Amino acid sequence: MGLFARLFGKENITEDGPVPPEILPQRNDLCWCGSDLKYKKCHLESDQAYLLKQREQAAKKACGPVFG
Ligand SMILES: [Zn+2]
Repeated sequence: MGLFARLFGKENITEDGPVPPEILPQRNDLCWCGSDLKYKKCHLESDQAYLLKQREQAAKKACGPVFG
């Protein structure tokens, strides 16, 4: 188990999988999850999907409940 896997232990595991750190690696850096893969080969896409979802949820909260 890598350093990052220990830092981002079970507490940050959600139904969607591990939560990405606030500061993300560069595309060619090793992924934060400790897989020894490059970030672009590992969590890049799932992080982008996750962050997009977070942004959508934040936008919904900011606008209050939406009816219909
Ligand atoms: Zn990863």
